[in-house]
This record gives sequence, structure tokens and C-alpha cells, in this order.
Amino acid sequence: MIDFKQVTLEYPVTRTLALDDVTLHIGKGEFVYLVGHSGAGKSSFMNLLLKRALPTRGVVQVAGLPLSHYRGRKTPLLRRRMGTVFQDNLLLDHLNAYDNVAFALRVTGVPAREWRQRVTVALRTVGLEHKKTALPVQLSLGEQQRVAIARAIVSDPPIMLADEPTGNLDPDNSREVLKVLQNVNLRGTTVIVATHARELVETYRHRTLTLRKGKLVRDDPLGGYTL
Ligand code: ADP
Ligand code: ADP
Repeated sequence: MIDFKQVTLEYPVTRTLALDDVTLHIGKGEFVYLVGHSGAGKSSFMNLLLKRALPTRGVVQVAGLPLSHYRGRKTPLLRRRMGTVFQDNLLLDHLNAYDNVAFALRVTGVPAREWRQRVTVALRTVGLEHKKTALPVQLSLGEQQRVAIARAIVSDPPIMLADEPTGNLDPDNSREVLKVLQNVNLRGTTVIVATHARELVETYRHRTLTLRKGKLVRDDPLGGYTL
């Protein structure tokens, strides 16, 4: 599903090596953590997949196609293959949970007659079907994050990228969000979670990639948190 072949990302001007000769393969349906100190290259990894940054050397492939294939008008096509969740996911204040999720379908080409079913399934996957009429202000931060996850999966993207998805959450809400991401993975979605949350990585074990100063220094199928 995702291939990095000797990928280097050097930012211009500062000449920072954000990623240094990274080669890896992530298969369809995998759940993978990406860990490392701040500045290790986790966000850069995500940004390459989203084509917000281009590799200085090497090739990034998604679904067998190099990202250079997704140029110009095809770039949105790539981004549609990726559901994204970040630390701060701005929900629209004036829309309830249901409408926040439905809003994401407007740009996808999914026919309107399928929306209700799609949104309902997405909210059910994150355990919030009963909160569909709640406004963001009426939801806890953890619930808001779960709405953001529902929004990210409502168009059924094959890949889910989560960058510090529990960064603002207390331990209970963090575990809930992690379980939701595991549910998303059980639907067949490839899930990549960049995180500092040692406890989650230790408790809910999955293949873990460790970056250190841009280098992939560990790729452990059994998981566990060591930086
Ligand atoms: P992480 O997500 O693991 O904290 P990042 O990918 O954000 O790491 O950053 C990797 C390195 O690249 C850091 O040294 C960071 O300062 C640098 N960096 C990130 N984005 C940029 C940018 N747009 N321009 C220059 N340097 C950047
Ligand atoms: P996002 O939209 O996911 O927040 P950005 O492209 O804004 O991603 O930034 C990605 C990462 O790169 C962040 O960790 C950010 O702190 C870092 N970054 C962005 N611009 C710079 C920069 N000029 N110098 C150093 N780090 C940067």
C-alpha cells in the first residue's frame, strides 16, 4: 500500500535532513505506529504521503503508483485516498456531529442518496451514533476527536494518517481514540499513527517504526516504545 524507497527529505535553506534514506513497506490493512523524539521526522513522513512536501531523493509510492503520478489535478485524488486526523481537528462550530461528518462528503463525489448511510456507519464506527445531533461545544475533547475520525473515514479511504491524534487528550479519552483507530483498522483501512503516547504504544501493540534524526532506526513487528 505504501512504499518508501531510499527517501530523503532535506528542507531547503536550513538544509535540515528531515528524512534520511528511509526505505520501508507498509502493507494493506496494517496498523503501524511511527515514534521518535520531536523533530525526528514523523510529520515530514506524513507530509510526504500527502504531497505537502516532495522527496529530495528517492521514491514514495501509494497503491503501487509513485506520487509523481498524482500531479496537478490528480493531487486531490491522492489526498482522497488518505483520511487524516491531527492533534487539533477543527470541527465546524455551528454544525452538529452528523453534519460535520456529512460536510466532508461534499467534495468526494459520493452521491447524496448514500450520505445518510455513510455518515451513520462512520458515527457508529467511532461509537457516537447517539451523539449525532450534538454540537461540538456539547462534546468532550475525546468525542470531538472521534467525530474528526468519523469525518476522516466517511469516504472510505484505504489509508488513515493520524498525527498525534491523542496529543490533547487525557488518558481515558486517549485509550478510547486508540480503540476507535483499531476499529477503523478492522474495517480494512491501513492506519498509521505518529505518536508520543508511550503508554498507548506499549498497551495496544502494533508494528512500530522508530525515527531518529530522520533515520529509520527500528522497525519492530512486535511493537513497543523505545526511542
Ligand atoms: P516530528 O514530526 O518528528 O517532530 P518533523 O518532521 O516536524 O518532526 O521535523 C523534522 C525536522 O525537519 C526537524 O528538524 C524540523 O525542524 C525540520 N522541519 C520540519 N518542517 C520544516 C520546514 N517546513 N522547513 C524547514 N525545516 C523543517
Ligand atoms: P500540519 O499542517 O500537519 O500542521 P505543517 O506542514 O504545517 O503540517 O508542518 C509540519 C511540521 O513541520 C510541523 O511539525 C511543524 O512544526 C514543522 N514545520 C513547519 N514549518 C517549519 C519551519 N519553517 N521550520 C521548522 N519546522 C517547521
